Amino acid sequence: MYHVLQQVDGAWRAGGSGRRLTVLNPADDTPVTEVAVSSEEDVATAVRTARAAAPEWSRTAPAARAAALHAAADAVAAAAGELAEIMTAEMGKPVDGAQESIMAGVGTLRQYAELGPTHRGRSLAGDTEAIDLMAYEPRGVIAVITPWNDPVAVSCGLLGAALVTGNTVIYKPSERTPATGWRLAQLLTEHFPTGVLTLLNGDGPVGAALAAAPVDVVAQVGSTATGRAIAAACARTGAKALLENGGSDPVIVDAGVDPAWAASQVALGAFVNSGQICVAVERVYVHEAVAPAFLDALAAEADTWTPQIGPMVDRRMRDTVDEQVQQAVKAGARVVRGGTAPSGPGAYYPPTVLADCTDDMAVVREETFGPVAPVVTVGSFEEALTLAADNPYGLAASVLTTSMSHAQQAWRQLPAGTVKVNAVFGGAPGGAAHPRRGSGQGFGYGPELLDEMTVMKAVHIEAPPQGW
Ligand code: NAD
Repeated sequence: MYHVLQQVDGAWRAGGSGRRLTVLNPADDTPVTEVAVSSEEDVATAVRTARAAAPEWSRTAPAARAAALHAAADAVAAAAGELAEIMTAEMGKPVDGAQESIMAGVGTLRQYAELGPTHRGRSLAGDTEAIDLMAYEPRGVIAVITPWNDPVAVSCGLLGAALVTGNTVIYKPSERTPATGWRLAQLLTEHFPTGVLTLLNGDGPVGAALAAAPVDVVAQVGSTATGRAIAAACARTGAKALLENGGSDPVIVDAGVDPAWAASQVALGAFVNSGQICVAVERVYVHEAVAPAFLDALAAEADTWTPQIGPMVDRRMRDTVDEQVQQAVKAGARVVRGGTAPSGPGAYYPPTVLADCTDDMAVVREETFGPVAPVVTVGSFEEALTLAADNPYGLAASVLTTSMSHAQQAWRQLPAGTVKVNAVFGGAPGGAAHPRRGSGQGFGYGPELLDEMTVMKAVHIEAPPQGW
């Protein structure tokens, strides 16, 4: 059992609210972690500590900040096995996958350690006697509030970019993966001066208290509802809100594609990490010409995924997903595979394929954070594009097609941050995108995240009247 501590003033101790949270292992319901939740006074102390540490850290040379981040990345890499075990115990991802995503986080820390010192302003061509330049400066104190579904990799991106650009950070990991966040923070904080990285523990109310505190940026990855609450809090304090939120990513399966290949792509997109990925495939628009063969192949894929799928994060999330599935069935969806929560221990949910879905069903329209592939049959590629575009979210979208003109139409017309053709995942290193609509605002990753974490200052220097 992990007993998770906070670090708000340089020392590790229990959170002061008097409230406790217990995390159960989603594979067997045994208790894994106990958290002493941080109090409002702890939040205030963390802000004071981070504010006090900010001036010196902002003046530390970028190369020295990068060296600290590299050392921190080494420490996380050395502890990847241990971190993976904690992550699996808290959120259910099979341990090999957990280790892989932790190493992705290490890669992100290293990437920001390399990019940080190269993040530079520009010199301008003003009067020949003057010096004109634009320089980046850190924003100050950044609150980093993160989810449970990829708890290390997501945190490493925001923490690495914020720290290397000279900000101090208050980190509040998810209440569903508190020991993962606590162990990660322990590994990282050792490499930074006191107060540069502090840790708060707890659930929504702690996040809300932090978002309402006098910080300069609230960077949050999580649900759209939380993102909207944070945006409202930031409107009151004047802090910048950087939000990476939920999605309901469509995939279009065009006429003429190999149905078996298309089904393997859709299954990967819908079932990996038990469907608990922000860019998971959430709705499938399949052309009627290929629909029967595609559905048969998707059913076979679901059968292959069933024995290897990990549990969902907890029963609360499973109940939400199951409710969306049952509502869809009541409204006319046909269960091709899965669709029923097993009665044993844990939070397992089978890979689920629903046919005859319509676009007004919540399982299609909203985010379904579980292993569910709802399939809508369409009469044309244009109909698929229209339905795919008509959605409250705009995170990512995929199109499986053999037609170059359909590929062109898709990437130009789909209102999503990322569009992928003939792949449900993938993309070149160094890419970044703006999420749209309910999926958030700002660059949450990539080199442009360094811009979000900094402010630009224009400088104009003239010679004194008597010359230099
Ligand atoms: P969540 O919104 O419930 O929680 C995220 C974090 O916000 C947690 O630390 C939580 O304690 C905190 N929080 C909750 N209420 C708050 C409030 N009122 N004010 C401030 N903080 C608050 O989300 P979750 O269930 O942990 O994560 C799953 C969601 O995250 C999904 O919607 C998924 O799509 C999204 N996600 C998005 C991305 C992306 O890059 N766009 C990546 C991963 C996950």
